[in-house]
Amino acid sequence: MNNFSYKRAGSIRDALVQAGTGEHTSYIAGGTNLVDLMKYNLTRPDLLIDLNRVDDHHAIFETPEGGLMLGAFATNADTAWHPLVEARYPLLSRAILAGASAQIRNMATNGGNLLQRTRCYYFYDANVPCNKREPGSGCSAIAGYNRIMAILGASESCIAVFPSDMCVALAALRAMVHVEGREGRRRIAFADFHRLPEDTPELDNNLLPGEIITGIELPPNGFANNYSYLKLRDRNSYAFALVSVATGLELEGDVIREARIALGGVAHKPWRVSGAEEFLAGKTATPENFAHAADIILQGAAGYQHNAFKIELAKRAIVRNSMMALKPETQLPGAQPSA
Ligand SMILES: Cc1cc2nc3c(=O)[nH]c(=O)nc-3n(C[C@H](O)[C@H](O)[C@H](O)COP(=O)(O)OP(=O)(O)OC[C@H]3O[C@@H](n4cnc5c(N)ncnc54)[C@H](O)[C@@H]3O)c2cc1C
Ligand code: SF4
Repeated sequence: MNNFSYKRAGSIRDALVQAGTGEHTSYIAGGTNLVDLMKYNLTRPDLLIDLNRVDDHHAIFETPEGGLMLGAFATNADTAWHPLVEARYPLLSRAILAGASAQIRNMATNGGNLLQRTRCYYFYDANVPCNKREPGSGCSAIAGYNRIMAILGASESCIAVFPSDMCVALAALRAMVHVEGREGRRRIAFADFHRLPEDTPELDNNLLPGEIITGIELPPNGFANNYSYLKLRDRNSYAFALVSVATGLELEGDVIREARIALGGVAHKPWRVSGAEEFLAGKTATPENFAHAADIILQGAAGYQHNAFKIELAKRAIVRNSMMALKPETQLPGAQPSA
């Protein structure tokens, strides 16, 4: 690790002022990803600004619109177990609890979860080319061991996936990200928050330099009756998803009034295809209709040498998870809290 200075911010404004235009400044929240990146020498901030003492944005509360606001500095554990989240957004609760371990969820914050970096092995190995780590150096994963990599939205520059579980549910719930920067405050629709790699894989999201995530807003519909989160991975603990699916359904009898399906582990960002959700609206909730929606979602998917299996896996996971959403109590143990 390199030497760095450390300062605590007392407010968002204070953090923004301290950060200035500093190119080599990083914010730190739970530190569960950032400290690893610093140990691997992949991030070398001169100044760390600790956001944990910021006087606001730790709470979870109802919005006037009937939704919820999740403070950016609330921990993943406090969010997943919050009574309002459990009761009204159980899909989010399930997704968070399927991630990491109890210890990490106790440290990790909501803002930090959105900004965690890919788990591509080559990104963490400073001895090999990686366009995300060093733009223009090449991508070692394309011809390498690419089992965990993307099957959708990848580019010739990068085939990494975004590893978060929480964000898959937030995509399905159509959350809004609240941010504050030197130019003021703004809200970003979740679908526009993360980026596809295209020819700038070094950029994971659309935050402007220095901007701070202050909260995540959930709209009123939390799909509390019919939901399911399925995480398929190589082992049940400390493993990121090969494929994950968040499904929320609103039903009238066995007819789908509204459907939301988001995939994780398959692309550089949580993957939602509105055409599939539009197809399901007004249809009966049958495996055949969910399978057709899965085909729409996986249109254009392309596998590499070691991960082509993910295409069929994702299709089956969508159907399985959608059927479980009809009876959430039948969700598989893979969505239980990981050890
Ligand atoms: C062993 C292990 C297993 C894991 N498994 C999973 C898993 O299965 N699923 C999953 O989803 N996640 C998993 N994680 C990732 C974990 O969820 C993230 O590391 C965590 O959510 C990051 O939050 P943090 O508060 O610790 O962020 P930090 O590490 O403090 O920060 C991460 C990044 O976000 C920036 N940042 C933090 N907060 C803000 C803010 N409010 N505004 C602007 N910038 C900010 C920091 O500068 C840094 O760049 C795992 C992590 C580990 C170590
Ligand atoms: S997939 Fe992306 S992160 Fe992984 S080696 Fe290629 S450029 Fe780097």
